[in-house]
Amino acid sequence: PFDLLVVGGGPAGASAAIYGARKGIRTGVIAERFGGQVADTMGIENFISVKKTEGPKLVASLEEHVREYEVDIMTNQRASALKGAQQEGGYIEVELENGATVQSRSVLLATGARWREMNVHGEQEYRGKGVAYCPHCDGPLFKGKSVAVIGGGNSGIEAAIDLAGIVKHVTVLEFSDILRADEVLQRKARSMGNIDIIMQAQTTEVLGDGERVTGLQYTDRQTGESYNVELQGIFVQIGLVPNSEFLEGTVELTERGEIIAGAHGNTSLPGVFAAGDVTNVPYKQIIIAMGAGANAALGAFDYLIRTPEP
Ligand code: FAD
Repeated sequence: PFDLLVVGGGPAGASAAIYGARKGIRTGVIAERFGGQVADTMGIENFISVKKTEGPKLVASLEEHVREYEVDIMTNQRASALKGAQQEGGYIEVELENGATVQSRSVLLATGARWREMNVHGEQEYRGKGVAYCPHCDGPLFKGKSVAVIGGGNSGIEAAIDLAGIVKHVTVLEFSDILRADEVLQRKARSMGNIDIIMQAQTTEVLGDGERVTGLQYTDRQTGESYNVELQGIFVQIGLVPNSEFLEGTVELTERGEIIAGAHGNTSLPGVFAAGDVTNVPYKQIIIAMGAGANAALGAFDYLIRTPEP
């Protein structure tokens, strides 16, 4: 059994594992894929102190750093259920999809999130070649170009406002007949000269020249007519889905499925901590996930030294 079992091997999990191991406690990591979302990222320019790097490079150094320590890393393993301890300080159980059960006195959930995709033709082909999901990350790559934002919720309108300061023109496509974004954001977006908002627009295809995005096609849901928009970038902002399905009914989640984490990374279950994109942390970024992982590992250590060993 472990003292600290980290579920997830992204930036939050890697950071938590290092902080755990440095306390000299038995630390394990279960991860479906080491590196998490970072493995899918091209350029990273906001990981402070590293001017520019690439996802796979950062993943390699993350893994190298974790392997410096005595951490038991189990990759290609998916957690499928969590069972709280019988008594405080007792063993918490994490069930794996392969049928095995791993026990630990504390568990740190860092299973991250995934962007909700449009599921239209061309989206996968042009992912990273014009199709983007993170305006903070990729916005500057489209300086002076025309882009679309798919989705008119808070994240979509925020993205449009953010991008409008960098790019030439932003077209927002909203599927329904209302914008769900806060009124103040809508007002701000409407006051900017280079944002157009199209309602009742169903994106049907990402268009490209084989190398990069050149436009998109959408259907006006009111008239049924199809239109093409010429542009170089498409930011998909239709939601970030936390990887927390396996936790339903155990730790407390928000209505969007994010784990509710306190100041120490604590969750509603004693001995269970959480960090990174799977939690209700408002901003989802690598540097934030790493800080949260360190914070929650220290929270777990505090819990361990204050509870009786089984
Ligand atoms: P993740 O990175 O999502 O890692 C989750 C981990 O949990 C993975 O190891 C996964 O395999 C594992 N896992 C999930 N479910 C299970 C399960 N049931 N059992 C076992 N393991 C499981 N942020 C920036 O700061 N700068 C950028 O430039 C940037 N660019 C981005 C570009 C793209 C395309 C994407 C998708 C994201 C980008 N982000 C960027 C956001 C950043 O990647 C995330 O905020 C960060 O990776 C979150 O870290 P995390 O550890 O919480 O989760």
